[in-house]
Amino acid sequence: MSMAPPERKALADLAWYVGQEGGVLTSGRLSNFCKWFPAHHALNIKQLCKNCPDFSVVDQAEGQWTIRLASVEQEAVRNLAAFIRSMGRPLLSKEFSDLQSSHKASAAVVYSGDRTLSRFCQEHDDTFTVETSPGRPGICIGLRSWARSELPILEDLTAFLCENGGSVSSERFQNFYAKHPAHREAIPNLRAFCSRHPDRFAISEGTNSPHWRVTLAQPPSAQLAARLAIFLEDCDQPMRWDQLDGFYKKNPDFRAVIQQAGGIRSFCEKYPGLLLYEALSGQTDKIYLPKHCCLFMRGICNFSEPHGKYLHASPAPHGPLRCGYGRRCNYGHWQLIEQQAFADARGSAAAEASKSRDPEGDEADSGSDWESSSSESDAGVQAATWV
Ligand SMILES: [Zn+2]
Ligand SMILES: [Zn+2]
Repeated sequence: MSMAPPERKALADLAWYVGQEGGVLTSGRLSNFCKWFPAHHALNIKQLCKNCPDFSVVDQAEGQWTIRLASVEQEAVRNLAAFIRSMGRPLLSKEFSDLQSSHKASAAVVYSGDRTLSRFCQEHDDTFTVETSPGRPGICIGLRSWARSELPILEDLTAFLCENGGSVSSERFQNFYAKHPAHREAIPNLRAFCSRHPDRFAISEGTNSPHWRVTLAQPPSAQLAARLAIFLEDCDQPMRWDQLDGFYKKNPDFRAVIQQAGGIRSFCEKYPGLLLYEALSGQTDKIYLPKHCCLFMRGICNFSEPHGKYLHASPAPHGPLRCGYGRRCNYGHWQLIEQQAFADARGSAAAEASKSRDPEGDEADSGSDWESSSSESDAGVQAATWV
């Protein structure tokens, strides 16, 4: 984009000025800049910055905004990453004050524009990973590069624990290293490694034995059921039960949970609000999403019986129910599923992601109650495509 000389000059002056201010300029302090550079008074500085890659602009409540200098933002990323690298382990959010004292400017940039530390790391998720663990306050910030190199180890270790009933005593890890000799060098201290991943592993002391024990820290199976429902919704089709590779990959604990439930069929049957298992003779069984009648769930359906594929569950099964609108439900049914699936700090990010995924025009579609009026033909279409 070509830019007129006065505007280019204004941006150059602004970059210098914001640099002096530590890399951040709030709307409240714009008048100071204009005092220094009265020539730029008439320009729309905020709009100029929005079109310039050297700056980022954050809109806040009540017309307030904050401008950040991109180079200073990058410096904050580098400083935080270097700080975490020097510790050799993930940073707990309460330890952030240590960085604050050595890198004041970077810390100020992190928190500028009403941003939280967690949000900052999410905005730079190519560099950082953010984890929470149940029962521990705050967040745990790691480096993406660690996560990448550790992922194969995590998966092999999880698989090894699954093969051994989900819990293994320390002296029996010889078998793990025998199977994966390369991992011995990568994780010289298995106990420390497992402690660094409390979302996956729990360490306990052995009873009447000098050995300690690693147990899979499984997300509750209800959480996995909700995640599986979301996975199916994203695939937009029923799945053969043996086609869930993508889901297993993202949720390595799923295998152990399935085992515990006594197989994938009984797992699905534990969550009739979210999953339906269809046993088929002659072909592979399928899992699909139930269509609970959204109107019935709200007590306003005119049908006295289930109609088409729309279920009237009475009594309603425990937990969230996936209604016929699926992700497009405007009445909170889908939201409850996402809440159950990401019942931690990632919840808000996931909810936002799903909002942005919504195709345009759905609002009006799901706002009108097409479900009851066209349920028969809709069910017909579903049957044709599914069977
Ligand atoms: Zn109904
Ligand atoms: Zn609904």
